[in-house]
Amino acid sequence: MPKMLFINPEAKVNRDIPNIGLAYAATHCRVKIIDLNTRLYPRDRFLKQETDVLGISVQSRTWRESVRIAQLYKDKYPQAKVKSISGFLDIQCCYPYLDFEDKIVFSEPFSDSYSFPDYELFDSFEMFRKNWQSGVWNYAIMTSQGCPYQCIYCWSRKRKWRARSARNCYEELKSAKKRWNIKSFAILDDCFNIDKRRVIEFCELIKPLQLTWNCANGLRADRFDEDMAKAMAASGCEQASFGVESVLPEVLEVIKKGESIETIEQALDIAKKHFKKVNGFFIIGLPKSNYAGDLSSLEWAKKKGINAHFSYYVPFNEVVGHNHIFYGEGARPVSEEYPEKLQKKIYKMTKRMRPAGSGKGVSYRIRRQLRKLGLL
Ligand code: SF4
Repeated sequence: MPKMLFINPEAKVNRDIPNIGLAYAATHCRVKIIDLNTRLYPRDRFLKQETDVLGISVQSRTWRESVRIAQLYKDKYPQAKVKSISGFLDIQCCYPYLDFEDKIVFSEPFSDSYSFPDYELFDSFEMFRKNWQSGVWNYAIMTSQGCPYQCIYCWSRKRKWRARSARNCYEELKSAKKRWNIKSFAILDDCFNIDKRRVIEFCELIKPLQLTWNCANGLRADRFDEDMAKAMAASGCEQASFGVESVLPEVLEVIKKGESIETIEQALDIAKKHFKKVNGFFIIGLPKSNYAGDLSSLEWAKKKGINAHFSYYVPFNEVVGHNHIFYGEGARPVSEEYPEKLQKKIYKMTKRMRPAGSGKGVSYRIRRQLRKLGLL
């Protein structure tokens, strides 16, 4: 068996969320991970470790950085093989995993058969552990992946929906609580609420764990109802998020959202009754939108009393999609629907509404924690 080392390149976004696809791969192979997205420094510490195979987890948002790492490593260790890693998950937080020509592929489909991710393999583990224990960061879990809907801006679209059983997810959380004393968790599924029965069973199972949790990615409004909201809230869910995208009916139609603004509004009204915080995800610069239209989405969100999280529209196209991020540090408009300056203006107006850690650079809080741990 060749010696291997895995790398999670810096993505400049979601520093508090581990690369779950990579965690599954490393757990499967019992390989250590150098996590450059959460533990930032020293930036090129991977060069100090010689290995036979360097596996890089390449995502659309880290394409350029992955190429840089591969080049540096090949220059220093010409005999080493540098490969991308794919399998286990094909998308996380809307960013797809990509391949180099030379790749390590895991083909087992997403299911209960995966071993639970062992985050102790990350060299950033101490940061995760401390923040999970203090409840500052949420433990991240994928209970399903893929989505049968066909929203044109979304990388998860038209993918077979594969779900773990509610019990298997509960077992992972129970083990994370016992092993690392986590206080809260976030569900990162592309669409958590496809199957109502599974959602309710999950809520009933996890209730005794007494963890708080949230749905970090969007829920489908047309699959959300009062029963679901009650079960979620009773099991510790404090935040729900919905993909709204735009309040303009012509935009919702052209992006194939498959929901009307009235349906979305209804779901938000139910959610507001049950959760401490309700988030709405919006996209700036979608086809058929304009400055006034995107501004009206922002006004609508304010009136509804929800937190609006705006990101940029990146057309679903390989050339444009690689290395563009939609939100957080380094995000910038690429849509040609209306002037970039105005798209940026809306993005800036919603800066305070975006989640902590996804803003510009490393937040003061994260820097302080890094310093405390002697990592900065
Ligand atoms: S419903 Fe959500 S996850 Fe599914 S395609 Fe649309 S945006 Fe993507």
